[in-house]
Amino acid sequence: MAGIFIYSEKTDIAAELISFAKASGQDAYAITFEAEAAEAIRNYGAKKVFVLKGDSPIAENYAKSLAAFLKNESANLFVVGATARGRDLAARTAGYLGCGMVSDASAISYVDGTLLADRMLYGGAVIQSEALTGMVVVTIAAGKFTAAAAESAEIVSVDVTADNRVKLVNSTPIIKEGCDLRVADKVVCVGMGMDKPEDLKMAEELASALGAEIGCTRGIAEERHWLPVEQYIGISGAVVTPNLYIAMGVSGQVQHVVGVREAKIIVAIDKNEKAPIFRAADYGIVGDMYEIVPLLIKAIKTNK
Ligand SMILES: Cc1cc2nc3c(=O)[nH]c(=O)nc-3n(C[C@H](O)[C@H](O)[C@H](O)COP(=O)(O)OP(=O)(O)OC[C@H]3O[C@@H](n4cnc5c(N)ncnc54)[C@H](O)[C@@H]3O)c2cc1C
Repeated sequence: MAGIFIYSEKTDIAAELISFAKASGQDAYAITFEAEAAEAIRNYGAKKVFVLKGDSPIAENYAKSLAAFLKNESANLFVVGATARGRDLAARTAGYLGCGMVSDASAISYVDGTLLADRMLYGGAVIQSEALTGMVVVTIAAGKFTAAAAESAEIVSVDVTADNRVKLVNSTPIIKEGCDLRVADKVVCVGMGMDKPEDLKMAEELASALGAEIGCTRGIAEERHWLPVEQYIGISGAVVTPNLYIAMGVSGQVQHVVGVREAKIIVAIDKNEKAPIFRAADYGIVGDMYEIVPLLIKAIKTNK
C-alpha cells in the first residue's frame, strides 16, 4: 500500500497534512494511537485511518512498531506535524527505519517520488533546499496547507507493541499566561528600545486602538521578564501571520524577523535608520517611539 502516511496528535494539523498528501496525487493514510483521535480525523480525506493500539499513553513509545508498520505498508513518505511530540516520534521512527529525515521543513512538495523540502539554516539566514528519494520522514509546522472536509474514511485497528522503558508517571498542564499570537490579526511588538516596563502602557494603548495583540522580542520576555514567554516572536518563539505587524524599538535581527516574515504589512518604528528591521518593513518610521507612538494613537482614534 504505497502512499503518504501522516501523523499529528493535533487533529487540525493532521487534517492539513492529509490535504498535502492528496494535493501530491497520493493516497493519504492517517495514523493515530487512540480511537477518539481516529474519529476526529476520519472526515478529512484520508483513504484509511489506522489506529495503532498498544498499552502505552506515550506516542513516542510506538516508534519501533510504527517503523515496522510503515515498512510493511511500503509507505513512500511519512509526514509529521512539527510539535514537540511529533518531532520526537518522527526522529525515533526515522532512526528505526534507517532512512532520511527533514526536520522542521518550511515548505514541502512531492513530485514523481521525490520529496522537495526547504528548511531554514543559521537561525533563518539561509534556506536550504533538499531533494530526497526513497522513504523519508519529514516534520512540518502547522498552517502550511489548508484542510478540507471529505467523506468518512475507514478506521482500521492494528495491534502493536509499545516500548515501555519510558513510563508516564504524572502530567501537569502548562498554564499559559499570554494570548495566542499565532492567530492574531494585528500585532504590536515591543522591542528592547523601550526604556521601562511602565511604558508598556503606551504599546497597550496602541494595540487597543487597533484591536491588536501585544508581542515582543526575546529579550523583553526572557531577560527583562516584562511579558510572558508565550508572547515573544521569532525563531525560538511564536511565528505570527497577522495582517498588520507594528514593531516599536525592534532592531530586526534575523532570529526575530523569521517569526514575522509572513505578516501582510510590516510597519517599523526605530530611531536608528540603519536598523535591519527597515529592510523587512513595508513602512518605516525613523524616530523616537516616545514621540511617534502617541501621535499614531491620536491619529487612529481621531480617524475611527
Ligand atoms: C539562537 C538564537 C535564537 C534567538 N531567537 C530569538 C527569537 O525567537 N526572537 C527574538 O526576538 N530574538 C531572538 N534572538 C535574539 C536576537 O538575535 C536579537 O538579539 C533580538 O531579537 C533583539 O531584540 P530587540 O530588537 O528587541 O533589541 P535590540 O537589538 O537591542 O534593538 C533595539 C532597537 O530599539 C531601537 N530603539 C532604542 N530606543 C528607541 C526609541 N526610543 N525609539 C525607537 N527605537 C528605539 C534601537 O535603535 C534598536 O534598533 C535569538 C538569538 C539567538 C542567538
